[in-house]
Amino acid sequence: MSEQTHTQIQSQMAEIIGQLHEYNYQYYVLDAPTVPDSHYDRLMRDLMALESQYPDLKRADSPSQKVGGEALKSFSQVTHQIPMLSLDNVFDEPEWQGFISRINDRLGRNAGRIDGDGLRFCCEPKLDGLAVSLRYENGILVQAATRGDGQVGENITENVKTINAIPLKLRGENIPAIFEVRGEVFMPKASFDALNEQAINKGEKAFANPRNAAAGSLRQLDSKITAKRNLSFYAYSVGFVEDADNYLPNSHYQRLVMLKRLGLPMCPEIVQVEHPSECVDFYQDILNRRDQLSYEIDGVVLKVDSIAFQQQLGFVARAPRWATAYKFPAQEELTTLLDVEFQV
Ligand code: NAD
Repeated sequence: MSEQTHTQIQSQMAEIIGQLHEYNYQYYVLDAPTVPDSHYDRLMRDLMALESQYPDLKRADSPSQKVGGEALKSFSQVTHQIPMLSLDNVFDEPEWQGFISRINDRLGRNAGRIDGDGLRFCCEPKLDGLAVSLRYENGILVQAATRGDGQVGENITENVKTINAIPLKLRGENIPAIFEVRGEVFMPKASFDALNEQAINKGEKAFANPRNAAAGSLRQLDSKITAKRNLSFYAYSVGFVEDADNYLPNSHYQRLVMLKRLGLPMCPEIVQVEHPSECVDFYQDILNRRDQLSYEIDGVVLKVDSIAFQQQLGFVARAPRWATAYKFPAQEELTTLLDVEFQV
């Protein structure tokens, strides 16, 4: 590479990184994005393409290596015993097939094959809310935390206790002494519409979308405000569980069923499929029914179901290798977002 090109690429990357840092701050810290997710996603993909083409120019502070934003200092901080990661994403069928082929390679199942026979998946809607980790000790909810930067989140226990869908005590007997549940707090569309109508009637600022409304409602210093916001919750995985190997099933889907038995709500759309091609059918079906769902989603999440395979596949910097978000085509446009005045 000539010296000039090298400098040009470097400054192009610096510009994208600067923009992404700013968008992350607005989105994760202020809960008030100024650009649509599709715009953010495009910039991130541009950056990742440059980073893979010019690996020597990859910067340590690149947003492609980071999860979320920083925990707000106004809350006490919680260090996650197991990090809370993000998800990589695919946007079309060839990218989905690329994902399957990489999994086959890594599992040593004939390099490059894309058929995926014998690869069971758990298919879930991608809820557009906020990830939380719930810690139960001896079956009692003792702590709730946001994802934060993946390592350290905010202690939002009092606010989470106001959410009716989240049990304060688990059901059943012989529950491990420490049991962490992970899932999404979200604001149902009806609650979001009512909240924004109220805000507009009072001459206050509206929320940009249910995700920002959920995040803003959960990160209130006064839990009485959270209590009025009609938030809901679906569980989608476990965190640290004492004696996990003996207690938890070896299937991700069966783990969710187990969580449901313990009293944690599981999204009713979740299915287990025997072949990756059925994941594409799931994506299409959920996309067709998106408007009829009572909560906002921005795609589906497809997870290798076998926990043994998940452990073999492991993680990259910010996401597991055994799952991906298959995102829906962009709905919103820059102008619609920029027309709205936000509140936190
Ligand atoms: P993400 O939202 O793409 O995926 C990870 C998150 O998905 C998890 O943390 C969890 O909260 C959620 N999730 C929902 N359903 C789930 C399920 N069934 N199983 C597992 N997880 C599930 O990743 P992210 O790191 O939270 O955010 C990145 C995305 O946020 C970007 O791709 C972009 O779309 C958006 N973003 C937008 C802006 C902006 O300015 N508009 C800024 C930053 C990020």
